[in-house]
Amino acid sequence: MPEIVRTRTTRYVITWVRVDFLVFGAFRETRERHHMSVCPTCYNCRHPFQDDEMMGLAGTSKGNKLVCRACAETFQAELRAEALAEEAV
Ligand SMILES: [Zn+2]
Repeated sequence: MPEIVRTRTTRYVITWVRVDFLVFGAFRETRERHHMSVCPTCYNCRHPFQDDEMMGLAGTSKGNKLVCRACAETFQAELRAEALAEEAV
């Protein structure tokens, strides 16, 4: 069957990040108790969260996003490097 496939790229500008935000299992239980949806993967790299895993939170231009620890640490390092570069100007 002929088809057209279009993929959209969306950029999220990160303004802040919290590396130790919440343990996924506690987050999942609270959400489920309130019948809210749970996204079980990192918003950036799609790494699946384990119940005992610490998640990070990234503040972006399109709202707050849950990210894995590795991504949160990378973003934190990038934000720090950017802040240092701005100070040097
Ligand atoms: Zn990630």
